[in-house]
Amino acid sequence: MQFTHEHDEIRRTLKRFIDDEINPQVEAWEAAEIFPAHEVFGKLGKLGLLGLTKPEAYGGSGLDYSYSVAMAEALGDIRCGGVPMAIGVQTDMATPAVARFGSDALRREFLAPAIAGEHVACIGVSEPGAGSDVAAIRTTARKDGGDYIINGAKMWITNSLQADWMCLLANTSDGPAHKNKTLIVVPMDTPGITKAKKIRKIGMMSSDTGLIHFDDVRVPQHHRVGEEGMGFTYQMMQFQEERLWAAANALGSLTNCIAQTAEYTRERKAFGQSILDNQVVHLRLAELKTEVEALRGLTHMALEQYLAGKDVTEWASMAKLKAGRLLREVPDACLQFWGGMGYTWDNPVSRLYRDGRLASIGGGADEVMLGIIAKHMHILPGRS
Ligand SMILES: Cc1cc2nc3c(=O)[nH]c(=O)nc-3n(C[C@H](O)[C@H](O)[C@H](O)COP(=O)(O)OP(=O)(O)OC[C@H]3O[C@@H](n4cnc5c(N)ncnc54)[C@H](O)[C@@H]3O)c2cc1C
Repeated sequence: MQFTHEHDEIRRTLKRFIDDEINPQVEAWEAAEIFPAHEVFGKLGKLGLLGLTKPEAYGGSGLDYSYSVAMAEALGDIRCGGVPMAIGVQTDMATPAVARFGSDALRREFLAPAIAGEHVACIGVSEPGAGSDVAAIRTTARKDGGDYIINGAKMWITNSLQADWMCLLANTSDGPAHKNKTLIVVPMDTPGITKAKKIRKIGMMSSDTGLIHFDDVRVPQHHRVGEEGMGFTYQMMQFQEERLWAAANALGSLTNCIAQTAEYTRERKAFGQSILDNQVVHLRLAELKTEVEALRGLTHMALEQYLAGKDVTEWASMAKLKAGRLLREVPDACLQFWGGMGYTWDNPVSRLYRDGRLASIGGGADEVMLGIIAKHMHILPGRS
């Protein structure tokens, strides 16, 4: 994938914003276990960075998905995982289905303010009883006059404690599990919604993760995204982009982790030489760098296929799997070379060690990715 001058311009703008407005605040946000999403998104919206791939009619830039990937990579310069994840949820997880399938009125009411950074959005798929098995969700949206009445619970929802609206997946009929689901935009101040719990985590500290209850929550039926019964399909289509985004975002943080480790070990002396001078250290960093560049190749190849209009479910799953694996391997190996400093809470490598662990679980666990890849290999009789 050859990035152009336009991609570089976007990355430069984002880098300046990260250096000036985000990184100086990261320690305080991590300690507070939340960041001011409306303030940050408002500024990103003014820079035009929340709608790169969204239609121009709603304030987006109408660019292709390579710009999202370039932005995801550049977000790896943020000194924590929680803020990039929150931005990724806004740009590449909660809004794409609304942008692609929502009615004009829905897009004006919810997409345009999300692109402008006036609204914070979240995506509500996972539940207390169903995460990997999306088809098994229990939340229902029953028709009543011109409304849906929603009952159920959504768990692990990023941005949900601050969000203005949720793109929610619910069962709208008793039909087959892959054809009975619908995406619905639900304003988070609707009566019957309870922000039941802010979930404490081992990482992604500055990102708010909520358990949300829905008790007879009434929303108009015109809040439906696209066709009724197509929610599962839309969500699965959307996962291709979400997984490409996750792999691209990992590239930035993994590259920085190796560079920071090289810098620290070059300065740190033991036994009369730099830690980095030990072959076991610099050869290991070289090996890790090779792994990261292999991930870059895989991610960019998947992106090229995607831009060419191909179904990249298999390649995006491979990239997401490899990103998750490397987010466990690279910070673990690097942390070792920082010695005691690596074992401290606010160390950049220990933070990636904790934050990066999520990548093998969220948005489809490693085993789910492996299942998708195996299915595409056509090696299991009767399951192709
Ligand atoms: C910090 C955080 C943020 C999140 N943000 C969001 C969000 O914004 N919106 C949202 O909808 N969800 C979100 N999630 C939920 C996330 O996508 C789920 O946690 C994930 O899909 C796994 O679901 P689960 O936790 O229910 O695990 P389960 O489905 O209970 O699976 C547990 C484990 O079982 C194994 N497993 C599962 N299926 C298989 C299989 N087929 N074969 C072999 N092993 C298997 C895997 O190891 C898996 O990790 C978030 C989660 C976290 C932790």
